[in-house]
Amino acid sequence: MTVTTISKHGEVAVIRIDNPPVNAISQAVRQGLKDAVSTVESDPEVKAAVILCAGRTFMAGADISELGKPPVPPHLNDLTDHIECCSKPLVAAIHGHALGGGLEIALSCSHRVALPGTRFGLPEVSLGFVPGAGGTQRLPRLIGVEPALNMAVEGKPVGTEAALSSGLIDQIVDDLEPDAIEFARKVIDPGQTARKLDQAIAPDSFDPNLFDQWRAMCAKRKRGLDAPMAVIDAIEAATGPDVEAGKATERALSLKLRKSPQSKALRHIFAAERASSKIDDIDQTVARQIASVGVIGAGTMGAGIAQFFATNGVSVTLVEISTEAAAAGIDRIRDNLSQSAKRGKLTQDRAAEILTLVHPTTDYADLAEVDLVIEAAVELLDVKKKIFAQLDKACKPSAILATNTSYLDVSAIANATNRPDQVAGLHFFSPAHVMKLVEIIRTDQVAPWVLATLAQTMKKMGKTGVIAGNCHGFIGNRMYQSYQKTAGILLLETGSPAIVDQALRSFGMAMGPFQVLDLSGIDVGYLMRKSLPADKVHPYAFKVHDALVEVGRKGRKTGAGFYTYGPDGATTDQMVLDLIAETACENGVTPANLTEDQIAARCMDALGQEGLEILDEGVAARPGDIDVVFVNGYGFPRHKGGPDFLQRQ
Ligand code: NAD
Repeated sequence: MTVTTISKHGEVAVIRIDNPPVNAISQAVRQGLKDAVSTVESDPEVKAAVILCAGRTFMAGADISELGKPPVPPHLNDLTDHIECCSKPLVAAIHGHALGGGLEIALSCSHRVALPGTRFGLPEVSLGFVPGAGGTQRLPRLIGVEPALNMAVEGKPVGTEAALSSGLIDQIVDDLEPDAIEFARKVIDPGQTARKLDQAIAPDSFDPNLFDQWRAMCAKRKRGLDAPMAVIDAIEAATGPDVEAGKATERALSLKLRKSPQSKALRHIFAAERASSKIDDIDQTVARQIASVGVIGAGTMGAGIAQFFATNGVSVTLVEISTEAAAAGIDRIRDNLSQSAKRGKLTQDRAAEILTLVHPTTDYADLAEVDLVIEAAVELLDVKKKIFAQLDKACKPSAILATNTSYLDVSAIANATNRPDQVAGLHFFSPAHVMKLVEIIRTDQVAPWVLATLAQTMKKMGKTGVIAGNCHGFIGNRMYQSYQKTAGILLLETGSPAIVDQALRSFGMAMGPFQVLDLSGIDVGYLMRKSLPADKVHPYAFKVHDALVEVGRKGRKTGAGFYTYGPDGATTDQMVLDLIAETACENGVTPANLTEDQIAARCMDALGQEGLEILDEGVAARPGDIDVVFVNGYGFPRHKGGPDFLQRQ
């Protein structure tokens, strides 16, 4: 199939790329575009050309299926140089997305116009590499050094208005092809091929300290990541006097990072996230619409879940046991929203609008018309069973009933209703309105349309949904328990929570295991373990935890747990160290001098082993699902790809 065609409109040629679905820049596209530009160059009747794409978007980026394979010419950087060297004006006419290589092609044209709603970005950094076709060299020349750092180091796309005001595009147009042709006619004047790469960046146009400031920021906020630092290096190289040297620096960094373990891991997790919402054995077209929801319980999770749905424009009926508890839930949501407004994430008007969608009540009868209910009451099976029996009576027959339980048997909860095929788990993570991960718990009885509806609803509302089987703790909490068990044994071996926490932070975890327990409350696991048969709990890994809870040290909320919290932050006190030493001695654990790497390896091994069991049992459908859960729900470093990926390297 020909992916590139040329048509003539008087003196203006239109080069059209048609490579569905997103006009990925495959070898055929690169070759076709290169040849088309040569044709424009050599045709004396053509004085200017427009480059545009068929379908829903401009070239949205590289052909991801070619990444990691030996590159086939023409290479993208040769193509962008070829486009830039064309002596006639070339106008990129952009709609949809111009991302990565797509933006690099647009940057090598002499002009750019775009439809409203177009997004422009260099997201390579989020896949662990550096743009390699002049993106880091042309962007700062076009829009300035700091705006270019913002776009390429953060990897976040910008919209049309921002692109126009920064100079990234020349004009916003209403009717892409005719308006772009019209624009091209106006720039036929020979002076208008401007904006060549060989224009040096004026040294006084940016603060020379900028690069070190950005490096310091990345060292802190993007700890351990190679690509953001390399993007800064590449943009700094663009400010030097030698254009070719700048390009060579970018190219070398790009080629090196593409092959790096970090990029491999980041590409794996990107693909795994895209695959996670697919349910292989279910036809997703059976999904139904969710227009209104009910939430049971307005505590930490219920309030967050209600806020999440209301933010997505869905009306929420929020049920509590008393009007006071319901009002407290509304206050919680109001506080969250006003904090977001203070941080500039939304306007006060938008916050007020979201709040009007949440309707507090104590009457289950108010749930009669909702399409979906999510229960987020206390973690007690008997309480949940009673709630589900009540919901079964109050809700219309077509309503889906879901539980946010962390560990309990979803089938047992489903069996408290007369519609067990319409009951599933919907396990949000805290804070529910912020964390992207949701585990969708699939019982043996659940109907395909229910699963498809939940998966599609979560996806539509921006969550990363992962289907998990019904077992104690599902994917995430079950694996985290294994990790915490190993951390508990290491606590006794090393003698200090700080040693274990530091080792896992050095590995890249957002927080150490004992910091997490102090934050979420050591009593949560304590109560959970009490509900388990004795042979399901490790004989000594959690003994220190239990002893701390029993003396009232439940974590941050009581001012002390594994650490003591004071005005100077967290400190370790002697009482905890003595307790650890005594517990180790009583249980025959020999103290060990372990390196950070040894500690992290033991914890990763525990995660990897539990992950394999989870896969064997079919609790997770694919290895990548485990990684998606851990990266998105448990602070696992994204650039290490997830516990399963790590184990397979
Ligand atoms: P919470 O104690 O903060 O809130 C529970 C709320 O439910 C309370 O406000 C209580 O008044 C209300 N409630 C109790 N019985 C009720 C009933 N019959 N009808 C209506 N409301 C009722 O608890 P939480 O931390 O929000 O946890 C709720 C659920 O979510 C639990 O099952 C928990 O395991 C799960 N979960 C918690 C987290 C977390 O990090 N906190 C994360 C994921 C899942």
